[in-house]
Amino acid sequence: MSELLLEVGQMRDPEARIERTFAAGVLPSDQDVLRIVAPVALSVLIRKDRMQFRLVGRMRTTIELACGRCLEGFQMGVDEAFDVLYIPRGQSGDAEERQVEDDDLSTAYYSDNVIDLGQLMQEQCYLAVPMKPLCAESCRGLCPVCGANLNTASCDCRQTWVDPRLAVLEQLRKEK
Ligand SMILES: [Zn+2]
Ligand SMILES: [Zn+2]
Repeated sequence: MSELLLEVGQMRDPEARIERTFAAGVLPSDQDVLRIVAPVALSVLIRKDRMQFRLVGRMRTTIELACGRCLEGFQMGVDEAFDVLYIPRGQSGDAEERQVEDDDLSTAYYSDNVIDLGQLMQEQCYLAVPMKPLCAESCRGLCPVCGANLNTASCDCRQTWVDPRLAVLEQLRKEK
C-alpha cells in the first residue's frame, strides 16, 4: 500500500498521532499550478469517533509557483494547519451530510477503511496558493511590447513608445 494511505480500520485507540516526512516526489501535484520542491512534514492527531475520524494537524513544505506578473517560477513556504472530519463514503444520510457541512470544520470522505493523506496534503498546498501569486510585491512584470522580464532586463520599449496621436502631430510638423 502507498505510504500516503492511512489504514484506519485497525485503529483501536480513540487517539493516535502521526509524524511523518514524505519525499517531495511522492505527492502528486498539478505541475501547471504548483510543484512541491521540498520534503513534506506532516503532523496529525487522529481522533476516532466510531466511524468518523477527525484529523487535526499541520503540514510544512516548500512549493514552487509561477509569478502572475513575470511568469518566473518562485518558491514559497507552506505551513498549513488543518482540521478535517472524515466520514465513510456512502454511509451517511443526506440530512447528516448537510448538518456536517453547516459545521465549521471541513469534511472529507474515506472508503475501504483508508484515508488518503496524499489528497489531504495536496489540498493544503492548493489552499496555500495565493489568489495572485507574486514572486515579489515589487515584481515589475513583463514588458507588454517585447516581453522582456523587467526585473532582470531593461528594454527601450517604454522610451520609444509614442502616443499615436502625437505621432500624427509629429508627422504634420515634419511635412510643414
Ligand atoms: Zn514576478
Ligand atoms: Zn520591451
